Amino acid sequence: MVTEKEFTELLGKQISAATREELYAACLKLVQQHMAERPLTSGEKKLYYISAEFLIGKQLGKNLINLGLYDDLRQILADNGKNINDVQDAEEEPSLGNGGLGRLAACFLDSIATLGLCGDGIGLRYHFGLFKQDFKDHKQVEIPDAWLGGPAILRRTDTTFQVQLAGKNYNSVMYDLDVAGFRTGRNTLHLFDLDSVDESIVHDGIQFDKKNIEKNLTLFLYPDDSDKDGQLLRIYQQYFMVSNAAQLIIKEQKALGHDLSRLHEYVAVQINDTHPSLIIPELIRLLIQEGIPMRHAATIVTNTCAYTNHTILAEALEKWPISYLTEVVPHLMPIIGGLDFGAVCAFHDNADLNIIDNENRVHMAKMDMHYSHSINGVAALHTEILKHQELRHFHDVYYDRFNNKTNGISFRRWLMLCNHELSDFIDELIGTEWHDDEYKLENLLQYYDNEIVLNRLVEIKYHNKVRAAEFIRWKEGIEVDPESVFCVMVKRLHEYKRQQMNALYIIYEYMRIKRGEVPPRPITIIFGAKAAPAYTMAKHIIHLILCLQDLIEHDPQVKPWLKVVFIRNYNVAKAEKLIPAADISEQISLASKEASGTGNMKLMLNGAVTIGTADGANVEIRDLVGYGNIYIFGRTSDDVINLYNCSGYHAREYYERSQSIHEILDFITGPELSAIGDIEVLKALQDNLINHDWFMTLLDLESYCSVKETILYDYENRDKWKRMMLVNIAKAGFFSSDRTIMEYNRDIWHLK
Ligand SMILES: *Cc1c(COP(=O)(O)O)cnc(C)c1O
Repeated sequence: MVTEKEFTELLGKQISAATREELYAACLKLVQQHMAERPLTSGEKKLYYISAEFLIGKQLGKNLINLGLYDDLRQILADNGKNINDVQDAEEEPSLGNGGLGRLAACFLDSIATLGLCGDGIGLRYHFGLFKQDFKDHKQVEIPDAWLGGPAILRRTDTTFQVQLAGKNYNSVMYDLDVAGFRTGRNTLHLFDLDSVDESIVHDGIQFDKKNIEKNLTLFLYPDDSDKDGQLLRIYQQYFMVSNAAQLIIKEQKALGHDLSRLHEYVAVQINDTHPSLIIPELIRLLIQEGIPMRHAATIVTNTCAYTNHTILAEALEKWPISYLTEVVPHLMPIIGGLDFGAVCAFHDNADLNIIDNENRVHMAKMDMHYSHSINGVAALHTEILKHQELRHFHDVYYDRFNNKTNGISFRRWLMLCNHELSDFIDELIGTEWHDDEYKLENLLQYYDNEIVLNRLVEIKYHNKVRAAEFIRWKEGIEVDPESVFCVMVKRLHEYKRQQMNALYIIYEYMRIKRGEVPPRPITIIFGAKAAPAYTMAKHIIHLILCLQDLIEHDPQVKPWLKVVFIRNYNVAKAEKLIPAADISEQISLASKEASGTGNMKLMLNGAVTIGTADGANVEIRDLVGYGNIYIFGRTSDDVINLYNCSGYHAREYYERSQSIHEILDFITGPELSAIGDIEVLKALQDNLINHDWFMTLLDLESYCSVKETILYDYENRDKWKRMMLVNIAKAGFFSSDRTIMEYNRDIWHLK
């Protein structure tokens, strides 16, 4: 509860006379006051969720919702001619994450607090985060994202630890961020940093001296690791994070008087992907220092730690050369050696299980699997692939450690906050029980044949499209027509996600329109995606899409029917504007490669219909909504895995056999695009697609184009479409991160 009088006092002036920044500052104060009244969660046992990324998004709106202040404040501001959305826009988005993995960690913190579970997050305070994306000459340019410049949302604490990096001691500083649960609970996200980090060493975009650890340690998330210095820096960052984490854990547990030889009874550690894996040897090292013998310490740590796998892409599973680790963390090497020896002794007949391979590289995921009591995948299909393909040797010996935890999203942010109109309408229809029990959204199904309700869904979608169109005009200077159908593909740029397949579809559609075959109504294709700075092919794909955007924008014949919009710097705030406006959710990864996806869940919850492959959580969406309410196409994960196993895919055969694919690929280097783009880049991309195409774009291209035609045709059948929207919203309850966290707690953490 907040009254206009209280808020005006905080503000110190009339609301109507205040600037956006003044209103934002007053809102921050209000949040701080209410946050302080929220008791911290407590319990017998505490979770530490360790992650290199926390893509937390802007905090104000979420905090207002979770503290129960949002509706009051929205009204108070509106009564004084102010819009709460403008006030939220004044906040800089914290740049502490990269994509789905980091966003998952943020949704988890929200759900852990909401469920009243005692659990903190631990990560790093990156000064410039990932990077800010801009476009120049149809190419991505990277700029430091100076998000710390705005009003401070992090609280500097007095907590400091000594961390040994390459034999030298450094004093860390801990910064805290409050995490309020919805209605209940408060936990903390702890972010560590060094005072000596120097932002002024960054030049020419995001270049800096990679060797100067004292000054560069926490400048960026995922600094370029294409060379040795970059890899060393990643290890420095990872060790710095987990050393602080381990010391914080030991300190807190000692303060509680807990017996460290029973650490696993008081502490659960969740290792989010392999970036925090060094927590295992570091915790063991600290326990040994406390007088616990190595073998006993290893058992305690195994019973404490649990590992989440997020990918089956071999190149994404971290392996560090022993020589690099020896340089950065010499004091951990005896322990890592001992852990490998333990694994080798236990499974001497299977070299696949060794932590250290015969090229002297340490496999972080393998260390995690030997020394964690739980190994989980993030969607049903992904976990099955881990068990029976990628990690089958580990599954053979540790089958009882494997479990699935299908990802989820916070419905507070991804419906209540980003789509008030829909959220309020749902409240009107079925009450507010779904706020606490998301499965209750199924009650919407009683309106399956209610024309008034269905039409209102369509109307709300239209309003969101109008708002998104205004946003796109403001940010990108591009006009989009809210009457057109919005196809939304927003996610990190990666070849396995296959934005390039969508680009090839655009060429296909372009050529059709040129021939006079126009679609049933104008199509708007919206992209948002950052490419890792050293990922050349991903940048080539961005170039192709930006060239297509330009080509179509200036073609009077095609422009009325097709529009391509590539939104700059896709982040949580942009996601919140675009997702509620989507008609079609593009989830077209190569089957078997997308571990789960969470963008697919956000879009479904906001009434978009999915066109996708049978990959990740798309499979679970399909099972929930049924084939009639989703458009699944392309080869299955079994097909794809077989093709890889027998080297059975040759892109060139598709290029040579299909007239249509041939024409589409030739277009990439044809006169239209070479007049706009960088021909060398376009050639390199075309060559890759014809001669390599590791993620099998051409395999599914024709079925994608044909299902796209079907979905666009069905979109015109409004009676059918609005029912599909309703079913997708109603069946999304399973994808609440509250459900995911209840499962983690029930099966892995056992808090309370
Ligand atoms: C949800 C989200 C993602 C993950 O999207 P996927 O489609 O699951 O890859 C990435 N970035 C942002 C900003 C998000 O909100």
